[in-house]
Amino acid sequence: VNKAERSYLDWNAAAPLRDEARAALQDALSVVGNPSSVHAEGRSARRLVERAREQVAALVGAEPGNVFFTSGGTEANMAALTPTIETAAQKRPRDRLLVSAIEHASVRAGGQFSHDAIEDIPVTPEGRIDVAALATAVRRSCRPLVSVMLANNETGVVQPVAQAAAMTHAAGGLLHVDAVQAPGRIACDIGALGADLLTLSAHKIGGPKGVGALVRAREDIHLPLPLIRGGGQERGLRAGTENVAGIAAFGAAAAAAWSAFAAEAEHMRALREVLEQGLKATAPAATIFGQSAERLPNTTLFAVEGMKAETAVIAFDLEGIAVSSGAACSSGKVQPSHVLAAMGVAPALTRGAVRVSLGLRTQKADIERFLAAWRKLHGALCKGRTVAA
Ligand code: PLP
Repeated sequence: VNKAERSYLDWNAAAPLRDEARAALQDALSVVGNPSSVHAEGRSARRLVERAREQVAALVGAEPGNVFFTSGGTEANMAALTPTIETAAQKRPRDRLLVSAIEHASVRAGGQFSHDAIEDIPVTPEGRIDVAALATAVRRSCRPLVSVMLANNETGVVQPVAQAAAMTHAAGGLLHVDAVQAPGRIACDIGALGADLLTLSAHKIGGPKGVGALVRAREDIHLPLPLIRGGGQERGLRAGTENVAGIAAFGAAAAAAWSAFAAEAEHMRALREVLEQGLKATAPAATIFGQSAERLPNTTLFAVEGMKAETAVIAFDLEGIAVSSGAACSSGKVQPSHVLAAMGVAPALTRGAVRVSLGLRTQKADIERFLAAWRKLHGALCKGRTVAA
C-alpha cells in the first residue's frame, strides 16, 4: 500500500461506489424526463427505474413489482413498521411489534407503533436472537409484526431468520427483515428466508447513498397508510418524483453484487481470516465478538480490555486506516454499543470495541497495514493512552 493512499476498512458504514454504479449514475443524470411523464423523455427515465427494479428484485429473488424504492434503509424500515400493515387474510391492525435487541436504530425506533406496543427480544452472548424468547413473545401476542435483521452491522452475526419466520407465521404474524448488510456477502433470497418484507440500502452494496428499497414477498402484503403521500409514485407506497439516477445506480450495483457474490464473499473471508489471526497473534487477550457464530465474511468487531474505541479509531486514522467504533450512525457521539450491551458484554470491554469491515476492493496490503499499525499501537492503546502519529 502506497503511504499516501488510505486503507478503507469501514465497508459496513458505506461501501465505495462500484464502477458499474458510477457509470449508471452518470448516464442517468443526462436523462431529462420525469418517469411519470408519458412522452419519450419521460419513458426513458421510466425505463431506467424499471430496469433497476428488476435488478434489485433479482438480488433478493423477488418479483420486480414487489420492489418499492425509498430514500434508504432507514426509510424502508420506517415504512415497514406500521400496525396498519395488511394481508388478504388479515386486515386487522397488528397489536405488537417484536424487535431483536440488536436491531439498527431505524428499526428500534419502532416506525409507527406506539412505544408501549414494542417489545425487545433478547439475544444470546454470541449475538444471535434468542429463539426461545422469540417463540414465547410471538405466542403471547396476536397478529404480531416481528423485525429481525439478517446480519448485524456491528458484529456481522447472521440471525436465524428462517426460524423466526416459521414461528412468526405459525402465530399469524408477519416478519420484516432488515437485510441491509447482507447482499453480496451472504445468500439473501426473500423466499428462502421466509421474510414478508425486506429492507435494502444501496450504499452498503456499492450503490450511492440516499437510496434503498422495501421489498415485499407477495402482492397481497399491503401498506395502506404510507409514510410519504402525495403524487402516487411507487404504486402509492412512496410519493415523490423518483431519484432516477440513484435508483439506476442502485440497480447496477445490485446486478454487480449479484453476479460477483461468490467470488467477493470468498475474497473477503480469506482476508478476514488473516486479519483475525494477526489481531490475536499480537494481542492474544483480544475478544472477537460473535466469533463462534455464523458471521458475515467481511466483519470483525474486536476489543481489548483497557482500550478506548474512540482513541483507537483516531490512532488508526492517523496511520491512514479507516475503521469504526461500533455503528457509524452513533459515532461522533460517544455511546456504548446497544448490540454489545444486549450480548451481556461488560461495559469496560464494550468501550473498546473497534469494527473492521472489508469489501471487494480490500487488498492483502490493507490488512498488512492494519496489522502493522495494530502491532505498533496496541500496547499504548490497551493502557488507555493517547497515541501520537
Ligand atoms: N439497517 C442496518 C443494519 C444498517 O447497517 C443501516 C446503516 O447503517 C441501516 C439500516 C440504515 O440504512 P441507510 O443508511 O440507507 O438509511
